[in-house]
Amino acid sequence: MLKAMKCPNCGREQVVIEMNVRGERLVLHSCSPCDLRWWEGHDGVVPLAGVLDLATAGR
Ligand SMILES: [Zn+2]
Repeated sequence: MLKAMKCPNCGREQVVIEMNVRGERLVLHSCSPCDLRWWEGHDGVVPLAGVLDLATAGR
């Protein structure tokens, strides 16, 4: 699922991708002009390492 959102840094439209990672809904924000990328979950911004933990847990 794709949505358009404004980047808080540069104000341009960024790519937003919603994903389900082990039952948790996470949103990936990506802004190519800023070269910024971050995840957001229920509790706010999720560190990238935390997302990788979720994605690889239980394998
Ligand atoms: Zn930006």
